Amino acid sequence: MSVAKQLYQLQEVDLELEANEQALRQIASQLGESQAVVKARTKLASENQRLEELKRQQHSLEWEIDDLVNKLAPAQERLYGGSIKNPKELTNLQHEVEGLKSKRDQLEDKALEVMEQVELTEASVATISNDSKRLEAEWQSQQQQLSSNMEELKTTLSDLQHKREALSTSIDPETIEFYDKLKKQKGTAAAKVEQGICRGCRISLSAAELQQARGGNLVQCSNCGRILFLA
Ligand SMILES: [Zn+2]
Repeated sequence: MSVAKQLYQLQEVDLELEANEQALRQIASQLGESQAVVKARTKLASENQRLEELKRQQHSLEWEIDDLVNKLAPAQERLYGGSIKNPKELTNLQHEVEGLKSKRDQLEDKALEVMEQVELTEASVATISNDSKRLEAEWQSQQQQLSSNMEELKTTLSDLQHKREALSTSIDPETIEFYDKLKKQKGTAAAKVEQGICRGCRISLSAAELQQARGGNLVQCSNCGRILFLA
C-alpha cells in the first residue's frame, strides 16, 4: 500500500475520531441538573408555602369567629331576655350586640375570601406538582439516554484509537509527524485526486504531478500543499 493511501486512511480515522469527540463533548455539556426541573421544584415549594400560610390564616379567622359567636350569644340573651330594664343599659347592650355582629360579618366575609384562595392555591399546587413530576421524569429518561449514548461513544472512540495505533505502526514516524503538522494547519492533510482534480482545493493538477502521485510517491498538491492520494 502506498504511503499516500495509508495516510489517507489514517486521516479518515482521525476525522471520525474528531466527530466522535465533539459528540462526546456535546453530551457532557447536556448531562447534569436541568434548569427547568430546578425552576419547577422552586415554584412548587413556594406555592406550598403560600398554601400553608393561607390555611393558617383560615384557621385563625375561624377561631376569631368562634370567639365572637361565643360573646354574641350571651349578649343577645341578655338583650332580649327582659331582665334589663334600664334604657341606657339596654341601648349600650344593643350597640355592643350590633358591634359584635358587624365584626362577625366582616370576619366571615374575610374567611370566605381566604377559603376561595385556599382552593385556588390547592389547584395550582396540584398543577405545578404534576408539571414538576413530568419534567423530572422526562429529564431522568433523557439523562439515561445521554449516559448510554456516552458509553457507546466511548467504546467507539476507544476502537478508533486502536485502529489509529494499528495504522500508525506501519508508517514511519517522521511521515506521521509531517502529516500531523499539515493536518493541524489545514484541517485535512491528505486529499483524494479525482478526474485530475485535487479534492482538497479543487484545482486541476499538472500531468507531472499526477504522474508522480501515481507512482506512489509522497507528492504534495502544488496549490494547497496537501498530500495527494490517487484512489
Ligand atoms: Zn490541492
